[in-house]
Amino acid sequence: MENCIFCQIVAGNIPASKAYEDDVLLAFYDIHPQAPVHILVIPKVHIPSVDGINAENSSIVAHIFETIPKIAAAAGLTGGYRVISNCGPDACQSVPHLHFHILGGTKLAEQMA
Ligand code: 5GP
Ligand code: ZN
Repeated sequence: MENCIFCQIVAGNIPASKAYEDDVLLAFYDIHPQAPVHILVIPKVHIPSVDGINAENSSIVAHIFETIPKIAAAAGLTGGYRVISNCGPDACQSVPHLHFHILGGTKLAEQMA
């Protein structure tokens, strides 16, 4: 999708600091990190949000979650990490392309919201 910033990152039209990439997903460092390590994991295909996950594309999401532990380990998150996906306006989703935040590198706040 031309007007989607994350599709543009997948296409290579917008630069990003990549953490990991394969045929299905791209992981890159968040431009405004909210933790010492803040990585975004996105499917290469455009899925708008968690609400857009369905029987046709859920294997992509399964692959993302199978890969997140490898991405976290490669980023040195030996003490644990948090995975978050904001879905819709109440969750303050700002980029309408499915993404999972990996946050870590410090002891995170006990409260999530
Ligand atoms: P959301 O608020 O939708 O859950 O998360 C979107 C995230 O994307 C934010 O944390 C924001 O900092 C990050 N972001 C937005 N635009 C860019 C960009 O062009 N490059 C990178 N690396 N991160 C971005
Ligand atoms: Zn997109």
